[in-house]
Amino acid sequence: MKLEGLSLLGYSRAQPRGKSIVPVNPATGSVLAPAYFHASSDDVDKAAKLAAAAFPIYSEWPAKRRAAFLRRIAELFEGNANAIIERAGLETALPTARLQGETARTCGQLRMFAALIVEGWWLDARIDHAAPDRKPLPKPDVRSMLVPLGPVAVFSSSNFPLAFSVAGGDTASALAAGCPVILKPHQGHPGTSELVALLINQAAREAEAPEGVFSMLYGAGREVGIALVKHPLIKAVGFTGSRAGGRALMDAAAARPEPIPVYAEMGSINPVFLLSGALEKSAETLATGLHASVTLGVGQFCTNPGLVFAPSGSATAAFLNKLEALMTDTPPGTMLTPSICEEYRAGLERFSKTAGVRLATAQSTSQGAKDGQACPALFVSEAATFLKTPDLMEEVFGPSTLIVQCGTRAEMLAAAERLEGQLTATVHGTEEDLKAQQDLLTILRTKVGRLLYNGFPTGVEVCHAMVHGGPFPATADGRSTSVGTRAIERFARPVCYQNFPDTVLPDELKESNPLGLWRLVDGKVGQH
Ligand code: NAP
Repeated sequence: MKLEGLSLLGYSRAQPRGKSIVPVNPATGSVLAPAYFHASSDDVDKAAKLAAAAFPIYSEWPAKRRAAFLRRIAELFEGNANAIIERAGLETALPTARLQGETARTCGQLRMFAALIVEGWWLDARIDHAAPDRKPLPKPDVRSMLVPLGPVAVFSSSNFPLAFSVAGGDTASALAAGCPVILKPHQGHPGTSELVALLINQAAREAEAPEGVFSMLYGAGREVGIALVKHPLIKAVGFTGSRAGGRALMDAAAARPEPIPVYAEMGSINPVFLLSGALEKSAETLATGLHASVTLGVGQFCTNPGLVFAPSGSATAAFLNKLEALMTDTPPGTMLTPSICEEYRAGLERFSKTAGVRLATAQSTSQGAKDGQACPALFVSEAATFLKTPDLMEEVFGPSTLIVQCGTRAEMLAAAERLEGQLTATVHGTEEDLKAQQDLLTILRTKVGRLLYNGFPTGVEVCHAMVHGGPFPATADGRSTSVGTRAIERFARPVCYQNFPDTVLPDELKESNPLGLWRLVDGKVGQH
């Protein structure tokens, strides 16, 4: 596959004109070919019109046909995995093993959504039969199901160049729901994005999909991205990235004459609560586990545990000793992009200068690190400082964490109350600890999308029950998840048919249940 550095407008290419992005290898600083030209406002309009024209055709495809399309994308991805991984390695500095894992995850997600739509239960088909003789008024025949929203704009993430990128979870769930996708690729891995986009287009052509079922527009988020979100033919947005970026898209979408939903996953500091029973039993094991989670992937995960609460005392002192040694001995690692590294270093500076916060790692925040590299950092503070310093809740994206020592149980509860919405919260404790701290769990459930017990939050299982979401500011809409089969619900809405003849109802709602779906009929769930 030849990289051309041009946006894809359905099955054709945009013209090379105007500004361009030059990809850089973050490990060496060397420039990678080709340069990527920004899409113009005409290109945005063309992609949106193609997607809108594709929508009524694509959304009417039987689920089996859409599933075959998704499976073919996975097959092509696997068949070209070496080239994709090689380019992604150059553009992101992520190791091959990690990118191989992401390849498996990307293809697994595509196949998971394919299986889901063939099973069809996610459509939530409901039938309430008519009761014409009901008094005082006859009851109508009412049937409903979820239907796709329309063209979706997807902003891919920097930190998962495959699994949360061009053919990642947002794209897979939108295409599975029956929505065309216009992708705004991340500028950190434009070549990887082009390789994957070409495969999606190949699968679309083979499936004889209408042109416009997939397009990809290079360019700056503030220009091309905002133009896309504001385009009247776009009906929803998926995003993974910073709070500032997600918030800008939420505001742009809300200010449209027709506001549309934005599903932005904006990160989190993923608090961990160490309870006394667990610390007394296994302080050093907890330190080892936390260190592995904080430094995994140079800390560039939205589930990175950036904040830890522990009761003051000797067990916590032993935990801190071990953690300090592990963090100090961990070498610097190359970050995904120079700007992510700059932001990380700025975050460390901010914490270092905060009164009442101590840098516990032996090296300074960038000692021994080359350009673009992050040194792991451990900060230690007290609950009193945390409670009066809201800035300590800001995400420092990278391999750093802050341990907050709590003098009393009440302080720990007050700190939990103070937390903003999070993707996850973790509790380490014995069962006795948990029984004694039910109030902590009650508070945490109001704050997060996922509660973990005796584990670490990095590593998000892709499955039916997963929730990778959480109240604002972790996400734009705490009722949603961007991982797992529930993610498809973001791109659908319920529609109800009242008193329609069976012959014109969608197959999903026909009396004979020709697709064999699980449905809720007159209040009873069954395959009827
Ligand atoms: P980002 O700056 O939010 O960028 C993500 C995407 O949104 C990019 O395509 C970007 O386009 C676009 N964008 C950003 N600001 C925008 C705006 N005001 N209007 C319209 N579009 C906008 O995220 P990033 O580049 O991946 O990393 C920056 C920081 O985000 C990190 O340091 C970290 O704090 C956070 N982050 C969080 C997660 C997470 O899992 N939630 C993942 C990665 C990063 P341009 O690049 O063209 O501006």
